[in-house]
Amino acid sequence: MLCEAVCGLTVDVETRSVRGDPDDPFSRGHICPKAAAIFDVQDDADRIREPQRREGDAFRAISWKAALEQAGARIAEVQRKYGRNAVGVYLGNPSVHSYAALLATPLFNRAMGTRSRFSATSVDQLPAMLASLEMFGHQLLLPIPDVDRTSFFLMLGANPLASNGSLMTAGGISRRLDELKKRGGELVVVDPRRTETAQEATRYLPIRPGTDALLLLAMLHVLFAEQRVGLGHLKPFTDGLPLLQEAAQRFPPERVAARTGIGANEIRKLARDFAAAPSAVAYGRVGTCTQAFGGLTSWLIVALNAVTGNLDREGGFLFTTPAADLIDLASRTRDRGHFGVWKSRVRGLPEFGGELPAATLAEEIDTEGDGRIRALVTFAGNPVLSTPNGARLDRALSKLDFMVSIDLYRNETTRHANLILPTSFGFERDHYDLAFYALAVRNAARYARPLVRPPRGVRGDFEVLLDLAMSVRRHGGGKRGRGLGLTLRASRLLGARRVLDLMLRFGPHRLSLRKLLKNPHGIDLGPLRPQLPGRLGTRDKRIALAPKLFLDDLGRLEASLSEKPNGLVLIGRRALRSNNSWMHNSHRLVKGPPGCVLYMHPEDAAARGVVAGGNATVESRVGKVEVPVALTDDLFRGVVSLPHGWGHAREGAALSVARAHPGASLNDLTDEQAIDALSGNAAFSGIPVTVRKV
Ligand code: SF4
Repeated sequence: MLCEAVCGLTVDVETRSVRGDPDDPFSRGHICPKAAAIFDVQDDADRIREPQRREGDAFRAISWKAALEQAGARIAEVQRKYGRNAVGVYLGNPSVHSYAALLATPLFNRAMGTRSRFSATSVDQLPAMLASLEMFGHQLLLPIPDVDRTSFFLMLGANPLASNGSLMTAGGISRRLDELKKRGGELVVVDPRRTETAQEATRYLPIRPGTDALLLLAMLHVLFAEQRVGLGHLKPFTDGLPLLQEAAQRFPPERVAARTGIGANEIRKLARDFAAAPSAVAYGRVGTCTQAFGGLTSWLIVALNAVTGNLDREGGFLFTTPAADLIDLASRTRDRGHFGVWKSRVRGLPEFGGELPAATLAEEIDTEGDGRIRALVTFAGNPVLSTPNGARLDRALSKLDFMVSIDLYRNETTRHANLILPTSFGFERDHYDLAFYALAVRNAARYARPLVRPPRGVRGDFEVLLDLAMSVRRHGGGKRGRGLGLTLRASRLLGARRVLDLMLRFGPHRLSLRKLLKNPHGIDLGPLRPQLPGRLGTRDKRIALAPKLFLDDLGRLEASLSEKPNGLVLIGRRALRSNNSWMHNSHRLVKGPPGCVLYMHPEDAAARGVVAGGNATVESRVGKVEVPVALTDDLFRGVVSLPHGWGHAREGAALSVARAHPGASLNDLTDEQAIDALSGNAAFSGIPVTVRKV
């Protein structure tokens, strides 16, 4: 319920103990330190347990009735006066971990009728979804590495030993990678930092941040030149192979070696080994998405798998068959996704799936003119700490006419809200991993009942989102239409649980909540299986191997070849005991040595007089922070690294533990102008910075 690994847990409510469930067929007993902290959040004295209204600088408890009335009236007022787009909506990452929220948010968004929608997608995996939309015709149709059966795992910009797997639901990833090596397989990690995962790899290739697309094109160049290309069973329904070949011809290994930092011979060997392996999979994660060439990199990862016959093949990159299938549901409602249908008001950046890039949120609030965002709804999000140039957003939020936040905490973002509406959390609510079984390395399903009663003053996500939407419409805001009103009311009556049950019953495995309740440890639904072309979302059921959108972006990549490294660049970092920004109020997760430390190469540090254990300032175009420094030669020269999610010293947030361990926010340094120009995704990796000894 906290991360994508979907571990089965055994819980003792009396003693507040949480352990990994050894009988869970998917996670087989795996657990990480964050699971024990679920009770810390649930029982947290700082948690909001009844609706809160701002009165001056203070917050006071009010009834749900009054809170929903006031929120609906104020939002509707802004929409009537300035248009529907004058109200923004931001959905944070935890919203995807609640099946009820996942089912309610599409309805909520429809009812609000605003195009000013934002989410954590555009500071994370948007480029991978864009590749799926362009190549497979569905933004949610993401191929997953078959880690349990592959013999060659090429991992770029991913650190699953810290993240527990992302766009790759794999409870117990460390065991799965060990098993890969035990069966003689290769684990190759490409990353600017020798991460926890890279330390376990059979081969580690340090790379300059933001140059993965060049490496992948050079690998494709080798494969085409040496006739090691074969689409296998994809051939009858795949277009664009000659265009991909033409593109790759422009990037021989010798041309990209200096820029990537990986020698031409090393690139050739990697390409040959990948193609020669009995089965192989290339997989990229946050480092390949949150960079200036996120779209191109995500496309090329899929293309590399496809041309080596590893897409939709056992041991390669496969699609899942989840028991409750959101992809199928979206296809039935003809909502397979879209890109660039409209643009953001200020910078003209493209929407994706109905959302604008989070990097534009601050400017859409603080730039005068028609359509300016004047009111905001946030749900389970803390964009002040999680989106680029959080300090600008922080200032912008204080200028809003009205803000309502649905959240557990008064955090660095929700402290700006006029109203905070609290929801249930953790073991207080039932649980099914609706989003993450669609990304699992093996098909599985598990449903858990609530174990404890929620506090009296909180409500479920589904109810809060729908009640708020109905209140807005009652006051004359939101999208009109009788059909929509009926759908909202009917859904509210039905409830999230019944909707989930229907999805399971009509899903590919014909399950039901009853069946899942009879199997509390979960049900194994078997390994991933080839299912193309049937699963494709494209009208003609064909794969587009070389979409024009990506080919047109190659010129920008080619121009980057002449860039000369100059000074230091910053990359982010993930830690096992940290869950983005929102679990730092758990003492057990923040105690011990400080988590927010700048990693620096000893030679880069020596050149600036910076010493291990001392403090340094890090300054970018947008801001400056002071942090302690640790030296490590596990970093590419010229690269420094700071973890994300910190920066809890801001006045007005009510997070007492986090405030005592504040750290500095990476996003006070990242730049809202640094984006992947193709997709609009935030480019956190490779921000130019100056580091000075304090
Ligand atoms: S790895 Fe993720 S799902 Fe598993 S226990 Fe940790 S936080 Fe929970």
